[in-house]
Amino acid sequence: MHGVLIDLDGVIYQNDSLIAGADRSVRWLQHNSIPHLFVTNTTSKPRAALVEKLNSMGLGITPDSLLTPPSAAVAYLKQKGLKSIALFAPSATCSDFADVSESAAPEAVVIGDLAEEWSFDTLNRAFNLLINNPQAELIALGMSRYYRSGDMLKLDVGPFAAALAFATEKEPVVMGKPSPAFFQQAADLLGLKPVDLCMIGDDIKADVTGAQVCGIKGALVKTGKFRPEDLVRGRPDIVLDSFADLPDAWERFQASDS
Ligand SMILES: [Mg+2]
Repeated sequence: MHGVLIDLDGVIYQNDSLIAGADRSVRWLQHNSIPHLFVTNTTSKPRAALVEKLNSMGLGITPDSLLTPPSAAVAYLKQKGLKSIALFAPSATCSDFADVSESAAPEAVVIGDLAEEWSFDTLNRAFNLLINNPQAELIALGMSRYYRSGDMLKLDVGPFAAALAFATEKEPVVMGKPSPAFFQQAADLLGLKPVDLCMIGDDIKADVTGAQVCGIKGALVKTGKFRPEDLVRGRPDIVLDSFADLPDAWERFQASDS
């Protein structure tokens, strides 16, 4: 095993507080030049704001070491040579696409969590761009179904991407865990094969099982959203009480290769 992918929420921080000792493990990775990438499904903040949040907690990371759905989408567009897009995403996400040009005849239609900004006209415009440009790819910044906002549940990006996929018969490329395209992008950015990576997260399905499906090992931490039942809902290769234990558990990560 050569490198690690690390979830943020529930692993590095909880709400806005650093998980005790997580910063030491990050510095240990940096000091030992162990390839690592932070991977998150968060799209409510631009990558630069997330990097700032992590650095305010003393992590000392660069934007390159953080993969978000928008930054993965930008890397994917570059990799596939897709130069123009139509972007349906909230303003918080738009700065991540600053270097990609928008076009009325896009090579990709990128769908994010527009929430209240969705209307029939907006969704129908995305549909027309896809149907009128048969080669255009449909890229979804996650495929979550809904989330809680205050005292009600709100439709997330998934149902809108699914509506467009259904209408156009295009398979969406999903950027966000547990999508294989997202994990592959993470592996490509580190220049490593999935088999040489371990994903460390607190979500047994999206982090651990999702990674394992792609040939990446999965380590579960007992912080964040962890519940004891998770050990039955999935089969993590490694279980850690906390990300703070990473340096001490490193031997076990290496042993999990065999
Ligand atoms: Mg998490």
